[in-house]
Amino acid sequence: MGLSGKQINIEIEQDVQKLLSAEEGEVYTDSGEEIQVALAFPDVYGFGQPSLAIHTLYRELNLRLDTFAGRVFLPDSSQGADFGKSDVPLFTWENRKPVKDVDILGFSVPYETYYVNVLRMLELAQVNLRGRDRDRSDPLVIAGGPCITYNPEPLAEFIDACVIGEAEEVIQEIVQVYKDWRTEGKNSREDLLYRLSKLQGVYVPSFYEPIYGKDNVIEKIVSHFRAPTKVTRRWIQDLDAFPCVSASVTPLSIYDSKRIHLEIARGCAYKCRFCYLSYGIKKARQRSIENTIKLVKERLHFTREIKLIYPADIEIDYARELISQLHAIGASVLVGSVRADTLNEYVVEAVSRSGKSSLSIAPEAPEGRLRNFVNKTIKDDDFLRATRMTIRAGIPNISLFCIIGLPTETKSDIEDLALLIKKIRKQMDSCGGRAGILEVGVNPLFPKPLTPLQWVGMESLENFQSKLDYLKKILEHESNISIHTIPSSEAFIQGLLSRGDRKLGDVLYKIYKAEQTISNWKNALYEVGLQPESYFREREVDEVLPWATLDTEESGHLSRLFAQGQQRLQRV
Ligand code: SF4
Repeated sequence: MGLSGKQINIEIEQDVQKLLSAEEGEVYTDSGEEIQVALAFPDVYGFGQPSLAIHTLYRELNLRLDTFAGRVFLPDSSQGADFGKSDVPLFTWENRKPVKDVDILGFSVPYETYYVNVLRMLELAQVNLRGRDRDRSDPLVIAGGPCITYNPEPLAEFIDACVIGEAEEVIQEIVQVYKDWRTEGKNSREDLLYRLSKLQGVYVPSFYEPIYGKDNVIEKIVSHFRAPTKVTRRWIQDLDAFPCVSASVTPLSIYDSKRIHLEIARGCAYKCRFCYLSYGIKKARQRSIENTIKLVKERLHFTREIKLIYPADIEIDYARELISQLHAIGASVLVGSVRADTLNEYVVEAVSRSGKSSLSIAPEAPEGRLRNFVNKTIKDDDFLRATRMTIRAGIPNISLFCIIGLPTETKSDIEDLALLIKKIRKQMDSCGGRAGILEVGVNPLFPKPLTPLQWVGMESLENFQSKLDYLKKILEHESNISIHTIPSSEAFIQGLLSRGDRKLGDVLYKIYKAEQTISNWKNALYEVGLQPESYFREREVDEVLPWATLDTEESGHLSRLFAQGQQRLQRV
């Protein structure tokens, strides 16, 4: 049963109603379906509403006759205060059902920085935070998303079952297993988890026990309850079988416009060594043009703005055909970042026609040793060519993505990076178009699990900052270049949690209500007897990594690629 008006704070109710009534698109209503699901995004509505993962699961689950799935977001600061001080439990927006009363609570978690919000939402929902404290009356708490797929260990204590890989198919199996378990009289919770652990792509953290040796290094991971020793990633063969497209649009999300997101490709074949999109996602696949056009046509009555989601580039023949067909049916096409070496006139023209004023390209590192190390096989000339195409097409601004903190990086590498930035700036000004701002986003290298760089040490934030300052100093007299990076607290949290183990669960438990500063995190680490440095250090190639239970590339493949990369660092 949903909460009544009296039980919900009137302002929260009005807020939710206002946001829901601004949405247009697919609407599903609760008709008392047997299985009730809460789809949770661990951020406020403005950021969570556009989440394609939430939209896709919302649609897939609500198409089942036996299931209703409602969405729930982190309350914003005013709502959060109300939830916190009253007895109002967090509820699903569509049917005002208390989250603690649903059958399955599923979190979609895109980044590690959201982990604290998962705990906050569990608390606001009045669901026991730790899995071991939940019983048969509690919802089954599951989670999925990129960081869950490559290393869910820091959340191990709080999540009952993790989806490893792509959720579209396995979510149906999870619901079915839950339903059967319930029909058979809800035996123990352990029985439910045991059944789930048999599904391909489901990891039940409580069935695995890391055994630690010296210096908090894992010696081995023992599996219990006959859980598989390796959990295999799940992936769908055919993108056309699943419409990964916004279910609804709203002008009230962070995008300020009624924009549809539509995934046209998944996975990337370019294999840049730091990139989860290439190694974490099993295989590169593309949506057919026919299917894409059909999905867009079905939605043109509520918006014409279509953002195409893909990992790296749109191949030229596909781009020409797709974009011309999209324009022919009246769609305005937006694209994400592009690969400079394969950038083509169709993509540039689409950006120009959409009125978007900027295009993003990613050199990552200066040409030569470091760019070879990360396997970014693009030349400086390609970036200059992409710059000319962009400016001449009337797109005034360019965004560059760069990484600092690669192994063996020196001051002279920073100087080379600055030189490339200057060359691109000069090209913008001299190629015969109206040039605007060159935005340079510089982030630290986050060595991600399941990539060939998973063993690399992450550079200290102090070193990162001093290299960034040096880059800024070299460029300080250049006009129309803007350099930015992520806040250092976010870099710390991401670096710590992305390669963290389940001991960090105690840290999350201490920190989730506190202000997210580096000093608070460090204090929480010390209080539970952990050293921050041990999480940023280089790992031995034969070390048992916290995510060792999860399926990876063919055994030894990543370490061979890592070794190959290191050889490239030696060459000039
Ligand atoms: S091209 Fe982009 S998406 Fe593809 S592997 Fe490289 S960084 Fe990742």
